[in-house]
Amino acid sequence: VTAQTIAASYATVPAESLRAYARTARTSPFLSAAPANIRLVQTTAIGGIDIQKILTAFAHGAEGVMVAWTGRATVTNKQRLLVLRELLNFVGCERERLAIVTGAPDETTEFAFSEQVRRLGAWDFAAQPVFGLNEALPGHGVSAHASTAASRALQNVAVELLRSGRVNGVLAWGQAAREIQPTIARTAEQARRLFAGGRGYPNLATLLETVAEENVAVVVRPAELACIDALREEGIHLPEHLFLIGQGVPKDRCDIVLPEPVAMPGVLGSEELAAIERWPLEDRASFWSAQFAQCVQCDGCRSACPFQCYTNCLGDALAPHNGHAATAKQTACAHLACAARLAGHCVECESCSGACPQAVPLYLLHQKANQVLATLTR
Ligand code: SF4
Ligand code: SF4
Repeated sequence: VTAQTIAASYATVPAESLRAYARTARTSPFLSAAPANIRLVQTTAIGGIDIQKILTAFAHGAEGVMVAWTGRATVTNKQRLLVLRELLNFVGCERERLAIVTGAPDETTEFAFSEQVRRLGAWDFAAQPVFGLNEALPGHGVSAHASTAASRALQNVAVELLRSGRVNGVLAWGQAAREIQPTIARTAEQARRLFAGGRGYPNLATLLETVAEENVAVVVRPAELACIDALREEGIHLPEHLFLIGQGVPKDRCDIVLPEPVAMPGVLGSEELAAIERWPLEDRASFWSAQFAQCVQCDGCRSACPFQCYTNCLGDALAPHNGHAATAKQTACAHLACAARLAGHCVECESCSGACPQAVPLYLLHQKANQVLATLTR
């Protein structure tokens, strides 16, 4: 067991004091029994403690991370750390591996933490992963289907909108050569190939930026509607006058409603979440290690997300094209970084999971992150 810990922060401690502290910590007789491989990471403030730093430590073999600060933590920063701790637990890693300490930790605190991590042993994420559990979960892989009547209604609406000149394009699902894909119908003939339904991904709202200067209509399911709201709130440039064709959304939120609501994946998501939460920690670790062992780091999930997370993330650092063959644990850390950062932003549209060629149920991580954040802000 490598009981490696990183004590991050010491926000208000000047660099010289920190160096002195580190020197003392190395030579203190009290700490002589503690592991020598405690690594201090100084940051400028609690805001400087990016959760990515914590997850990078885990990804590279740390078995525990202590975050400590002496100044005042903003609610948001502390909440994100707490979200991360619950996410770690959700994927089968003991909460105790991430210690969150207010006030400069003294030798006793550090020693106790080191001992605690030593007792927990290695975070053995890849031990005997069990494949196929996700297929047993309720609702996994539910796709949306629509009746011919709903598709015909959509086609009629689209033809009418295009003929009247009210819009110059209708963004919806369309029948391509062999499959249903997002499409923009520009002519009545193209509108006749539209399809009310299609899979839950990608979220059509992700494509609106590409037609930001146009006058278009878009089919919106609850996920698209939530996304449009969130993207506008974040100041993303979307078409100013959008004609909203609703499916399963309140009448007062769109310009016209199609006759039949479409079942969205995600309706059963909370059942899956609850089912996983009832599993013992080892089963959760086994389930998630199997999921992440399948990840081929294609980046499909990130590209499909309307919020697209960020660049220069842990996922990039661990990507195969950067010379890494990431382990399941490292892959988990990259996805956990995404989930913790998107907590409160994710609209649970499930596009990330839908786009995944390996069917990794990432949306469960995002739902969990949202759920924890909602509890903390209640
Ligand atoms: S992270 Fe959330 S918003 Fe992004 S694709 Fe996944 S479910 Fe949708
Ligand atoms: S889409 Fe799936 S396989 Fe690709 S990076 Fe995301 S989780 Fe991994």
